[in-house]
Amino acid sequence: MAVQPKQNLSMDSATETSFINFYFSMPEKPDTTFRIFDRNDYYTVHGKDAIYAAKEVFKTNGVIKNLGSGTKKLESVILSKMNFESFVRDLLLVRQYRVEVYKNRAGGKSTKENDWQVEYKASPGNLSQFEEILFGGGGAPGEGAAGVVGVRIGSGPDGQRVVGVGYVDSTLRKVGVCEFPDNDQFSNLEALLVQIGPKECVLPMGDVAGDTGKLRQVVQRGGLLLSDRKKSEFTIKDMVQDLDRLLRARKGETVSSAALPEMEKQIAMSCLAAVIKYLELLSDETNFNSFQMTTFDLHQYMHLDNAAVKALNLFPGTDTTASSHSLSGLLNKCRTPQGQRLVNQWIKQPLIDKIKIEERLDLVESFVEDSELRQSCQEDLLRRFPDLNRLAKKFQRHSATLQDCYRAYQAVGHLPGLVLALQRYSGKHDVLLNAVFVTPLNDLVSDFSKYQEMIETTLDMNQIEHHEFLVKPSFDPTLSELRESMDKLEKGMQAALSSAARELGLDAGKTMKLESNAQIGYYFRVTCKEEKTLRNNKKFTTLDVQKNGVRFTNSKLSSLNEEYTKSREEYEEAQNAIVKEIIGIASGYMDPLHTLNEVIAQLDAVVSFALVSHAAPVPYVRPRVLDKGSGRLLLKGSRHPCVEAQDDVAFIPNDVSFTRGQETFHIITGPNMGGKSTYIRQVGVIVLMAQIGCFVPCDEAEVSVVDCVLARVGAGDSQIKGVSTFMAEMLETAAILRSATEDSLVIIDELGRGTSTYDGFGLAWAISEYIATELRSFCLFATHFHELTALAQQLPAVHNLHVTALTSHNTLTMLYRVKKGVCDQSFGIHVAELANFPPHVIASAREKAQELEEFQDLSQETDGEGDEQGPEAKRRCLQKQEGERLIEGFLAKVKALPLEGLTEAAVKQRLCELKAELTTHKNTFVNEIVQRASGKAASV
Ligand code: ATP
Repeated sequence: MAVQPKQNLSMDSATETSFINFYFSMPEKPDTTFRIFDRNDYYTVHGKDAIYAAKEVFKTNGVIKNLGSGTKKLESVILSKMNFESFVRDLLLVRQYRVEVYKNRAGGKSTKENDWQVEYKASPGNLSQFEEILFGGGGAPGEGAAGVVGVRIGSGPDGQRVVGVGYVDSTLRKVGVCEFPDNDQFSNLEALLVQIGPKECVLPMGDVAGDTGKLRQVVQRGGLLLSDRKKSEFTIKDMVQDLDRLLRARKGETVSSAALPEMEKQIAMSCLAAVIKYLELLSDETNFNSFQMTTFDLHQYMHLDNAAVKALNLFPGTDTTASSHSLSGLLNKCRTPQGQRLVNQWIKQPLIDKIKIEERLDLVESFVEDSELRQSCQEDLLRRFPDLNRLAKKFQRHSATLQDCYRAYQAVGHLPGLVLALQRYSGKHDVLLNAVFVTPLNDLVSDFSKYQEMIETTLDMNQIEHHEFLVKPSFDPTLSELRESMDKLEKGMQAALSSAARELGLDAGKTMKLESNAQIGYYFRVTCKEEKTLRNNKKFTTLDVQKNGVRFTNSKLSSLNEEYTKSREEYEEAQNAIVKEIIGIASGYMDPLHTLNEVIAQLDAVVSFALVSHAAPVPYVRPRVLDKGSGRLLLKGSRHPCVEAQDDVAFIPNDVSFTRGQETFHIITGPNMGGKSTYIRQVGVIVLMAQIGCFVPCDEAEVSVVDCVLARVGAGDSQIKGVSTFMAEMLETAAILRSATEDSLVIIDELGRGTSTYDGFGLAWAISEYIATELRSFCLFATHFHELTALAQQLPAVHNLHVTALTSHNTLTMLYRVKKGVCDQSFGIHVAELANFPPHVIASAREKAQELEEFQDLSQETDGEGDEQGPEAKRRCLQKQEGERLIEGFLAKVKALPLEGLTEAAVKQRLCELKAELTTHKNTFVNEIVQRASGKAASV
């Protein structure tokens, strides 16, 4: 629980009434926007925001104070500066809400007037005004780019639906546009949003029905914060002029946005216009001449839908997933914030181009093989680089200080050592390592040579040891004079130390020290142990007591310190003009600084992959990557990288094999907790790892490049939700079916579990059949519908696998070994037995299971029955054929339902009718399926 602030929200009644009136007169806001009032020493929040803050920050309603009463009652909570900072961090970074901080322009606390205006505001996609609070001096977190997208639907020349996307990433200073045709489930948009990973989305206000309604759902499913903007903001009217201002020109060139090829993408450009307005980029001059235009090609990266991102646990969830259990947590062992950002970006953007994948794998391999190089980069060289992106931004905004200039200088100073280490590499990828790292780094060293010279000639290096960033005194006669007197004062302070130490019986420089900091200047310090020597000594004044000791002073030191502080202030003033000039020149190095940022990020990311590949419980191997379309996926001894990394797991490896035309669809059955989900998900994770250029947790791996990984994971706990879950699954699965190709990997887990067994089974069957015969994507389907395994007898590409377990008298041991064929169905009953179910329940369950087995035998017997059989067998065979036709007809009708045009209730109604139609047929086979399925549902 946070410490409650000491302040009281004390206002006289006139001020209170006036504030309440003001508060209630403010325009309405969504619950995702928080209004915080800055009252100089502390902050307040009111109304719903206050109730939320009480609950989330203080975990008690006791902190809520009411202003006013009756209808004008206003809940209020006070936040100390510390509460405020952590609250804002939580709102913006974790919950992804908006924050507005208001300040009273009418003056001090006593005023009755309330003229509160927004002083700062931020949203998850635009954190620039809160950077210091959110990230302190330590650089933005690895979580990656914060960006905002604008999205609008338009139509192409042939009337086709076209989606335009404009995006701005104010951290990386990039703007971009992308335009593409899309289906009615917006699968392409969903994939694009996963790839660029924005935090916020602006949409044209108004439309909520039809296409736009769906589009909203897609955006929300991705966890983006939505803001509605006026339609009139989506206009390209002033775009040329606006972009001319915002875009960065190369040296010696001017920007002419009108000639940009991106201008042709008018729908996307109009979205970019809306985002630029939303972020108010043009009202801040430091944004001018700083952005870069990028185009995004949707097909450059593997498509991932949101469900796949979740199922494969790519990123730590806001809920319970510990970060180490996510792929990002596992692979991100970077030493720099820029490296961390890049790894997260790579995970969202797996490559499709085999040459590029191989190149990244080559780089990773170099660092896997050369352990000395890997270690020196990881443990020593990379950690010396600060967040160069943030530094570049400060340069660009002219808000850099001499310390920032020095940090860039230091970073560049580390380059020769890094180059030397890289040049020592003598493995088989030395040409590549040279091209990707050594040459660019050497070029940067020479690009920065003048910069380094400037810093060396202007900065007073002697003072940097004392953490003082000052211009060299020799630069100006006033400065030398001041330096001289400051040196004298310093000597005086050293003398004061010696005499004070003598007086106290301490050892100057050892048990008693002279130190300084920016707030209080020079002071003495002794450790807490020596504190007693100061007690009752009137000559010394204690400044404060901290863990590392007592800080104190005496009259001599404090007068010297005063003089010193004065001179130092004068020094700073005298150097001001020179500092401005230095910072002005440094700003010209923004471009090479960006390049340096990119090279270091890439090196860091590659080294991190190599480290993880090498340090895994069983080292990863380099996958053999095959061209897209090769139709093979063979994994031997494959493991789930995140599950195997957990401390208490001895992971059992398993094989996977897919070959186009032979085996493309695996149905996995087996007991609960038997490892089905883990198995199918690990295949997805491994394919993704291969395509981001990382080694994979297998003994051997052969991976054809896939164009997308799609996942469908049934809501395990939604039995009670009934038909609407069924509908949701239908719709979502329909979307998969539309975007998957022969080169896709589809992962389906527990589909249909949320519905009645009968509906669920029908759905599972229809979808499996469609994927196996029409799409022919590689598919792993984990299910509890044992009946689905019969599909393997009908379709040669479908194969059955099962996870194994051992039952002995009173234990069930999961073996987690995946084997060919169908599993023994009686596990459920064993489990029930172990759980001490009454014997008559077990006996009846066994009976049912027996019936089901007989039924399965029956349907297998009737397969391909010939003329030799007797009339009874023939009758049954005809019954079965008719029954199958009826079921197929039913499924076809379900598939053909025009879902877009119907409301959910109408679809429900239609489904009931179709079901009733099916069961009114007096077909024994159908009735038997229905009966047995309901019987099974009851026994389950
Ligand atoms: P359910 O049918 O109940 O959804 P499931 O069959 O999908 O279960 P999983 O969730 O994949 O089972 O696995 C259950 C647990 O078993 C996992 O959390 C993991 O700890 C462990 N496990 C899974 N696979 C393996 C394996 N190959 N080796 C070791 N442990 C494993």
